[in-house]
Amino acid sequence: MNKPSTLIYDKSTAGLCGASLENLRFSDKERQRWIPENLRRATLPSLPEVTEGEVMRHYVDLSTKNFHIDKGFYPLGSCTMKYNPKRNDEAAGNPSFATAHPLAPESTVQGCLHLLWELKAALMEISGFPAMTLQPVAGAHGELTGVLIMKAYFENLGKPRKKILIPDSAHGTNPASVFIAGMVPVEVKSNAKGLMSVDAVREALDDDTAGIMLTNPNTLGHFESEILEIAEVVHEAGALLYMDGANLNAELGLVQPGKIGFDLLHINLHKTFSTPHGGGGPGAGALGVSATLEPFLPNPVLRRGESLADHSKAVEEFYLDWDRPQSIGRMHSFYGNFANAVRGYAYIRTLGAEGLRRVAENAIINANYLRVLLSDVYEVAYPGACQHEVVLSAVRQKKKGVRAGDISKRLLDYGYHSPTTYFPLIVPEALMIEPTETESRVTLDKFAEALIKISHEIDTDPELVKSAPHNTPLRRLDETAAARNLDIAFLTEDSEA
Ligand SMILES: *Cc1c(COP(=O)(O)O)cnc(C)c1O
Repeated sequence: MNKPSTLIYDKSTAGLCGASLENLRFSDKERQRWIPENLRRATLPSLPEVTEGEVMRHYVDLSTKNFHIDKGFYPLGSCTMKYNPKRNDEAAGNPSFATAHPLAPESTVQGCLHLLWELKAALMEISGFPAMTLQPVAGAHGELTGVLIMKAYFENLGKPRKKILIPDSAHGTNPASVFIAGMVPVEVKSNAKGLMSVDAVREALDDDTAGIMLTNPNTLGHFESEILEIAEVVHEAGALLYMDGANLNAELGLVQPGKIGFDLLHINLHKTFSTPHGGGGPGAGALGVSATLEPFLPNPVLRRGESLADHSKAVEEFYLDWDRPQSIGRMHSFYGNFANAVRGYAYIRTLGAEGLRRVAENAIINANYLRVLLSDVYEVAYPGACQHEVVLSAVRQKKKGVRAGDISKRLLDYGYHSPTTYFPLIVPEALMIEPTETESRVTLDKFAEALIKISHEIDTDPELVKSAPHNTPLRRLDETAAARNLDIAFLTEDSEA
């Protein structure tokens, strides 16, 4: 049983020491010579006294308290928790990249700029867009950048428009980004199949509609089959089509969103392109746009200059172009999250075009495999073949008094992270499962077995599921409070449900 941690300070024993810097100690005389009076501390710092081995054990122990992808299967729908190959981290940690100073003159970081250039070219090919910025540092940040570009486009035409249509199945960041950009989100209802119908879109469009934001495949895991007709009516109304491509796992090598009518698209490198995420770490939300929208991209834009003759060999010159009067301005400092760009680039180059297509195929096969394994016991929210994720509805289980959230908690006892729970909002008791392509059939079989077993537990011993989890360091947290009060000391309390 996993016990709550104590702090490293609680493990301190006077006199214990990891590594000693005794030889480096200043003599009093040296101290006086080198350290100005006002910078000298009067008392020793309060540091834990522990051996090197204890420090290692403490942090390894902490790393297992939380759930993470290197510890177990993490089918958190919409989040694409695929395995992140460690060589990508190694590439990002290469001192030539890791020690490049963000303020270094462009001429001295040509290699870094070259990498950004190639990453951009690869993402443009994958997504089918002729222009792109790598500046945004999250999916939501890419959305905000995109919506500001849509706004600027209409202002530039001298006909500002305010409304952006958003399906009721959309990710919550969509309306939030629209609102923060000073526009007005307008909800459009999905049809009985969980899809956007061209009729619903046509009805919602008016002169003040700047565009529509669609997630495709949508958050129910289904491809928007009327997309070509939707693109037509949206464009006829003079509006734009934004695609939320946070999750491009089902489309790599199969669909280029820029070729099926979308004018803008953001891509989360920290989902599809395998850079570690979760816990609020750095992200990367590249944004692709059509040629018409290129002038509005945030400043600066990376460009490739003339080839310069350097005696025998040609030298490429990459530079940042600031001379773009219609730009919406800067969205982030420096080059965005450069280390994530390196990881995404390493991933793309490792797999190549063929490998990326297999990612999409296997992601789709894995989700459908789980859908079929589970469909006798759990209701599938919108039946039929899915794309990269499948949304179940625990309505049968709820009739027995156990909710989707209880099932998710019980999965932790079986060693699995929970699926995304209670989202999309239009599915009652939603359990949104995204296995990703990196899981084996054995893992999927065992996971399905656990979910089926939990459903049997609900028949025989519902209290067992309702009081889960039973073997995690902490039981049921007040989730709102836990998200807002990141108080580590709190973890030392032996809190029982
Ligand atoms: C994850 C996700 C987002 C938001 O991405 P962040 O990087 O968390 O801001 C937006 N839309 C969809 C569909 C997503 O899955």
